[in-house]
Amino acid sequence: MTEDTWGQVQDELQKTVGTNNYRNWIEPLEFSTLNNGLATFFVPTNFMGNWVSRNFGDQILQQLVQAGAKVTRVAFDVPKSPLKKSVNNSAARSAPAATPAKIAGELPGAPLDARFTFDSFVVGKPNELAHAAARRVGEGGPTAFNPLFLYGGVGLGKTHLMHAIAWELQSKSPDLRVVYLSAEQFMYRFVQAIREKQMMDFKQLFRSVDVLMVDDVQFIAGKDSTQEEFFHTFNALVDQNKQIIISADRPPVEIKDLEERIKSRLQCGLVVDLHPTDYELRLGILQQKVDRYRQQYPGLEINDGVLEFLSQRISTNVRVLEGALMRLFAFASLVGREITLELAQDCLADILRASDRKVTVEEIQRKVSEHYNIRLSDIIGPRRVRVIARPRQVAMYLAKQLTTRSLPEIGRRFGGRDHTTVMHGVRRIEELKAHDHQIAEDLELLRRALEA
Ligand code: ADP
Ligand code: MG
Repeated sequence: MTEDTWGQVQDELQKTVGTNNYRNWIEPLEFSTLNNGLATFFVPTNFMGNWVSRNFGDQILQQLVQAGAKVTRVAFDVPKSPLKKSVNNSAARSAPAATPAKIAGELPGAPLDARFTFDSFVVGKPNELAHAAARRVGEGGPTAFNPLFLYGGVGLGKTHLMHAIAWELQSKSPDLRVVYLSAEQFMYRFVQAIREKQMMDFKQLFRSVDVLMVDDVQFIAGKDSTQEEFFHTFNALVDQNKQIIISADRPPVEIKDLEERIKSRLQCGLVVDLHPTDYELRLGILQQKVDRYRQQYPGLEINDGVLEFLSQRISTNVRVLEGALMRLFAFASLVGREITLELAQDCLADILRASDRKVTVEEIQRKVSEHYNIRLSDIIGPRRVRVIARPRQVAMYLAKQLTTRSLPEIGRRFGGRDHTTVMHGVRRIEELKAHDHQIAEDLELLRRALEA
């Protein structure tokens, strides 16, 4: 690949990402090296590297492949010595912050990803509630619940849903002032406004929006003055009946170093979570992506069983799953081969290895004993009093759910118990889970802690 190829690709990207994004994020990139399919670009700051990777990485890779470059992955690094190009826009230098002129006028939001729409969101059991709530908010009209608080682990679709709401609202009422930004950007804006003595403008601007979406709000935990400002903005908008949508990686009560009054306000609306994906949802997402890639890489065949294999083996997060599929298509089109199971195993060896981290029965026992505040030796030991027997059954249930161990194997790890004892324990918890709220909650907490 040459600088020329990159130049061409940049031109293409300018058409797809829009002028502003292009100037802030794509133009400052400097092609560095191509090694074993890994194309490295220099970026002025780490922040920018992360941002570009997260928001434009896939598109850059796709365009490079389309331009004929032998690339399967892209990376963005800060050079040891300063960049040749002088980078003179503020976004590239530090955060995606605006110039003073912008603060005074333009809406303070971050760009929306054109791919994150309701159309492209695959609904399954783990995300159906969050999806329904997002749809409802996307309909506009009187605010049904304020704020809508979406939470869940990394890569489960929070940002996707927020963008989808924004697109939906904007297409219905183009004049609506919909602002989406991350909590991190909110903080940068705030700090910049203080530095440039533009707090009045800042306040006015954020209070003038119709719909405010703040992504990854856990970021402002512990950042006191940002929290304070966020709280005021939040209240001002709620008082005006303006819709607010917030996301975080955990529920409000579990965000440490977040002021109590903010926590309680966040809980006033509707709090819904995105559960970890299940096999069916992952397969559904892959199938949808394949349909898209087919248009992009006509003639590329994918064998039966490959998608099933990926859905089974990559259960961490959807972003990783998508990345795997994308790399597979890029690689297959490069070498002109159909996508077989072997090709997938070869080409994705590193991803597969990384997602292979399996929960062990021992870990489950440890976490469960910590959770119920009993001794590990009691979980394995013979005591049959309820305060110990119940946690033991919970641990057995989780061992059955989260590991591939058989009942006799699990029994052995519980002090040599018989497999029928394990089966009984698993059944008991299954029954309890259905109507015992506390048990259901314990299981959910433990599962999340173990899969984290
Ligand atoms: P989060 O913000 O929760 O970390 P994202 O919304 O960024 O996760 O999602 C990560 C990637 O996975 C995105 O490319 C997104 O489009 C995709 N994704 C997640 N959930 C779904 C889904 N249900 N259907 C389609 N794509 C999804
Ligand atoms: Mg996100």
